[in-house]
Amino acid sequence: MTTAPHALAVRAAALDAAAPLGHVRERFLLPDGVVYLDGNSLGPLPASVPPVLDDVVHRQWGTGLIRSWNGHGWWDAPARVGDLVGRLIGAAPGQTLAGDSTSVQLYNALSAAAALRSGRPLMVTDPDHFPTNQYLTDAVARRLGLSVHRVRPTGLPAFLAAEGDQVAVVGYSPVDYRTGELHDMAVLTEAAQRAGALVLWDLSHAAGALPVQVDDLGVDFAVGCGYKFLSGGPGAPAFVYVARRHHADWRPPVTGWNGHADPFGLHEEYVPARGVGRGRIGTPPVLSLLCLEAALSVFDDVDLTQVRAKSLSLTGFFLHCTDVLLGGLGFERVTPPEPERRGSQVSLRHPHAYGLVRALEDRGVIGDMRAPDLLRFGVNALFTTHRDVLEAVTCLREVTAKGAYVSAAQGAGTVT
Ligand SMILES: *Cc1c(COP(=O)(O)O)cnc(C)c1O
Repeated sequence: MTTAPHALAVRAAALDAAAPLGHVRERFLLPDGVVYLDGNSLGPLPASVPPVLDDVVHRQWGTGLIRSWNGHGWWDAPARVGDLVGRLIGAAPGQTLAGDSTSVQLYNALSAAAALRSGRPLMVTDPDHFPTNQYLTDAVARRLGLSVHRVRPTGLPAFLAAEGDQVAVVGYSPVDYRTGELHDMAVLTEAAQRAGALVLWDLSHAAGALPVQVDDLGVDFAVGCGYKFLSGGPGAPAFVYVARRHHADWRPPVTGWNGHADPFGLHEEYVPARGVGRGRIGTPPVLSLLCLEAALSVFDDVDLTQVRAKSLSLTGFFLHCTDVLLGGLGFERVTPPEPERRGSQVSLRHPHAYGLVRALEDRGVIGDMRAPDLLRFGVNALFTTHRDVLEAVTCLREVTAKGAYVSAAQGAGTVT
């Protein structure tokens, strides 16, 4: 007799054999005995990174010293690495800059976008947006004397049709970081455009995970993280995209010497550099930028439509395993079943989410949780396999059925 787990193992093997990008997994240094489903929070270490960092530290810094600012392209790194990210989000060169954190980029870009629509009193964002986006939208609104209105993505087109002429900027993420729900960037961008508002997308959970076309959609501004699906390392530089049509007029409020038109002239007055370059603030984080640059080579020759297809196969299989293996164990599926509404993660709700995630971790299955009761499992199609997915859900079934989470939730380790 064929048991359900056996049938799933056969299916996982068949899906892995049929899936594209199998060879790309070798570009990551994944530890043995670990199923890593948290690449949406901190991407794993690409094999290309250690030798580059070693060279940057010992030769470029150690030997080249200050000469390396020009000799090894340190000065140009924000624009050069920005363009590498730009390729992954559908931005033609010269519009994307790497550096600083997502939070800082967001503050600059949101402020500049709102100022470009002065006279319109509203900023609109998602009530479920990531906290930093909430706080910074409020902060920018306070500084500019604007109000913030919160509307769920599904209600945004109707809201904009009714009151869009009051709206300066809309700031959203295509992927809900908690539920993994994917929103239609094209529909929401077009709704904002029709209202004459500017749109700022936070691509933290989209860049490198699915095809994004900022130029083709007519997006105004975008920001995103370097350490999630881009695997640039802990605290990797973020990026900002500014559409070329705004280059003459955008005014980021944080005006540092690096963004000056003539940074080495040491002028008394700030004159912004041309283009996206005025988004530079202070001295760029060279080690982190070159680490991110090396990491991005994992995307060489990778077609993001294949990444998307494989990611959907992985999350679809995850949901199927959930249906087959987790019935009656108290889980609620949170991620939408429709492929066009799924990002690259699966979220489940369970009252013992914390203890379960800890118990999984003890067994080498790394996901994460978001308070109060969500378990999150990110898939990165560059290295995740269907077999990984089955192993994770099988492990989840075991620890739940055994009640291993009870002691984990008490903070006293787990019962094996
Ligand atoms: C991860 C994430 C951030 C993180 O911002 P940092 O400045 O890097 O801490 C911001 N916004 C969104 C939507 C995110 O998913």
